[in-house]
Amino acid sequence: MLHKCEGIVIRTRDYGETNKVVILFTRELGKVALMARGAKKTNSRLSSVSQMFTHGIYLYHGGSGMGSLQQGDMISSSRTMKEDLYKAAFAAYMAELLDKAVEDRKPNPFLFELLQQSYALINEGYDEEVISYIFELKLLPLFGVQPVLNQCVNCAAGEGDFSFSFRMNGFLCHRCKHLDDYRLPLSGKAVRVIRLFYFIDLQRLGKVSLQDSTKQEIKKVIRTYYDEYVGVYAKSRSFLDQMDRMKKTMEGPKDT
Ligand SMILES: [Zn+2]
Repeated sequence: MLHKCEGIVIRTRDYGETNKVVILFTRELGKVALMARGAKKTNSRLSSVSQMFTHGIYLYHGGSGMGSLQQGDMISSSRTMKEDLYKAAFAAYMAELLDKAVEDRKPNPFLFELLQQSYALINEGYDEEVISYIFELKLLPLFGVQPVLNQCVNCAAGEGDFSFSFRMNGFLCHRCKHLDDYRLPLSGKAVRVIRLFYFIDLQRLGKVSLQDSTKQEIKKVIRTYYDEYVGVYAKSRSFLDQMDRMKKTMEGPKDT
C-alpha cells in the first residue's frame, strides 16, 4: 500500500553498493526508516531527497518490515545549513538528540514543528548556537525531565538573584542559595534568556544576539543538565566541541 508523509531526514546509512536506509522524522508517523533503492547513485531520483536535513513530502510502499521509498518532493534542501560546516554540525547534533529522544512510529507533531522550524531558522541565518540551545531545552520533557525555571525551585519566588541548582533541579533564588553549595551562579541576563528559550514559541522568536559570555553560561547549564539528568551520549557533540575549540583558537582571545 502506498503511503504519504511529510518528513525530515535525520539519519542515513548505506545499504549495499547503491542503496540507502533513510530515517525520517515525520509529522504523521514520527520516526520511520525507509529503504531508498539506488539512492547512492547520483542520477537516482531518490538521491537528493534522501540526503541529511532534507525536508519533503515522501511516498513509500509499506507492509510488514521496512517501507520502501518510492518518491520524494522536496520542500527544502536545507542547502545553507548543509554547506556551512558549523551550522551542519549543530543540525546533526539536534537530529541525533531527537533520534535518541523518540521511539519508532510514535507521532509527535509538536516535535516535528520544532525540528522543522529550527532548521528553517538556521537556514534563514539565525544563530545556530541559539537555536540549538532552544531545541535542547524544549526536548527535555521528551527525556522525562523538567527543570523548574519560572520561579525558585524551593520558595517559588519569581524575583531575585538566581543560580542554577542541578541537585534541586531548577533555579534557586538568593534567599535559598544556602541549600546547594554547588549551585552554578548565573548572570541576570543568562537567567532571563534561559527562561525565554524554555518557554518561547519558536515562531515568535525575534533576532537574538547574545554575547559570547552569556552563551557560555547557557551552554554550561544545558550541557551539565544533559549530563546529570538525561545521560544521552551524542556522538556529534564531541565533534561540536572540537569545532568550538578550533574556532576559538582561530579567533584568538576575545573581549567580552
Ligand atoms: Zn528561593
